[in-house]
Amino acid sequence: MRFVSTRGNSPALTLSESIAQGLAPDGGLYVPEIFPNVSPGKDAVLSLQHVAQILLSPFFVGDALEDQLHEIIEEAFDFPIPLVDMKGESALLELFHGPSAAFKDVGARFLASVVSRLERGHEKPLTILVATSGDTGGAVAAAFHNKPGVRVVVLYPDGKVSKRQAHQLSCWGDNIQTFAVKGVFDDCQRIVKEAFQDEWFQKTFRLSSANSINVGRLLPQACYHAWASLEYYRRTGRAPGLVIPSGNLGNALAAIWAREMGFPIREVLLAVNANEPLLAWYKTGDYIPKPAIATLANAMDVGAPSNMERLLSKFSYSELQHFLRVDGVSDSEIEDLIRRGEKDWGHVFCPHTACGIVALERVSTEDWVVCATAHPAKFETIVEPLIHKEVSVPPALDELLKRPAHATQIEPQLDALKKAMS
Ligand SMILES: *Cc1c(COP(=O)(O)O)cnc(C)c1O
Repeated sequence: MRFVSTRGNSPALTLSESIAQGLAPDGGLYVPEIFPNVSPGKDAVLSLQHVAQILLSPFFVGDALEDQLHEIIEEAFDFPIPLVDMKGESALLELFHGPSAAFKDVGARFLASVVSRLERGHEKPLTILVATSGDTGGAVAAAFHNKPGVRVVVLYPDGKVSKRQAHQLSCWGDNIQTFAVKGVFDDCQRIVKEAFQDEWFQKTFRLSSANSINVGRLLPQACYHAWASLEYYRRTGRAPGLVIPSGNLGNALAAIWAREMGFPIREVLLAVNANEPLLAWYKTGDYIPKPAIATLANAMDVGAPSNMERLLSKFSYSELQHFLRVDGVSDSEIEDLIRRGEKDWGHVFCPHTACGIVALERVSTEDWVVCATAHPAKFETIVEPLIHKEVSVPPALDELLKRPAHATQIEPQLDALKKAMS
């Protein structure tokens, strides 16, 4: 299987080569050349790991790591991802039982497993630059901490993430370095993109990325969407739609890829926050990126979703109309939903998952799987005042919060990062 750039001006690579590259040399993003139909039939009863093996195998054909896929899957999918029934023919896919309590643990662990295998035998360590709006950095840092031959540099927007998120981003040390950028997430993302095109950075480091611009994050995410759709079908005899709280569109694109590969996903509903470029595009067909604005669902505070380029390279607007919808959720709707989440749905939701539930409440059709993208305890400063009680902290997160934390503040310019890293 070959991976090509969305901009069509870079050589085709294998999966592990494109993972090691991150961004393609022409500035585009790597995508698989084709999506083979691999769905094992709607009635199959399979574990998540087994679905992952079926879905990922074709992408590893001819790859240097082809014979290690089984071990990679074991390392990446090493925590439970339950599909919990909810009222009204719907279910919650709980993606937050990993070390950083958000769905990004899956992609980050897969990436870390692949990259550390590729790094065996290199002299100069690989430097992974990661811009985070809150959750990516924690997942990537947890996944790569103390992996030999790799160093991770995390950039997050200072003051724009929750206290527990900030702690999770900066409690590592060793091979993990954390910078608090005086700006918004889009500044962090821009600095990373600039670094990749900067001569000094290219000369000084062997660079890679771990953002959802890295195709190694997307493919493992397709696995849990595929598994959840099969499992929902097994329980009900009907193909579900997926509700996906979205920012950079990494999770949603993975769902669309799983659908392309024949898994029983009826349609995909993107729940976005007050950042409106996606919603405006859905309504008009015009995609106009904007600066990000801060909302309660901060991991979705993205004004220029990086995976839009992948989405639009594969599908026309009119093709997407057949299976994609977008709904926008305001901060006051998020607050209202969190307040009544336990009474109306039997769950305390994080602000991102709350966007998904609000979108679910507004659709008229049934059979939806909503992705619960993070644990509410990660966003305690938002959730607890609304529900007037404490959210208990899951053990893995509790462990991290006990470690000492340190981040270095920098101005939102590439030069500031250069100075801090020289
Ligand atoms: C990253 C994140 C999102 C958005 O996912 P994308 O892949 O960027 O669309 C939603 N919720 C949570 C909790 C996240 O961490």
